[in-house]
Amino acid sequence: MRAVLLGPPGAGKGTQADLIRTSLGVPHISTGDLLRTAVQNQTELGKQAKAFMDEGKLVPDELVIGLIRERLQSDAAAGFLLDGFPRNLAQGQTLAELLDENSVTLDHVVSLNVPVDELVKRMMGRGRSDDNEETIRARLDVYENETAPLCDFYRERGVLREIDGLGTPDEISQRVLAQVK
Ligand code: ADP
Repeated sequence: MRAVLLGPPGAGKGTQADLIRTSLGVPHISTGDLLRTAVQNQTELGKQAKAFMDEGKLVPDELVIGLIRERLQSDAAAGFLLDGFPRNLAQGQTLAELLDENSVTLDHVVSLNVPVDELVKRMMGRGRSDDNEETIRARLDVYENETAPLCDFYRERGVLREIDGLGTPDEISQRVLAQVK
């Protein structure tokens, strides 16, 4: 199974990934988690990424693609649940190329749909260091302008599964699993 979780910040991608990863039996790869670990460990990559993350901007593609390429060649070679990647059309193209090189394709792109006022409420409640009002607004703009176009990209390829992201985490994971089986 090769699947991508797509959705705005605060949509619950990380929560859903935790709930469904065991059922799917594939590694969960969150570029946000990988980047936050790099920042914490003060690696070269982390130092470069931090300023972008603090401002709610996308980290430059080449940094993130490096992380993903490494994983697709190792533990994620046989399948994966990607969370937070791809996040723009260029990353979507790169992922397609990386999969092409291995003669495999994506099975599902799960888009979690949540209204903006609910997204803001959730992010203000979780208190991550990049969850302040200004950064949240910047990340919602980035989603609208750069990430949302991926929905059309994947719809045209017949792999987009749109899920209502309102409800309890368990209700939502049932909906996701029903679509990706
Ligand atoms: P959220 O989905 O709530 O925005 P993430 O943990 O997915 O949280 O991402 C946090 C931050 O990490 C983003 O605002 C961005 O700066 C950076 N980031 C994560 N994934 C990517 C990516 N694929 N490309 C560029 N930047 C990314």
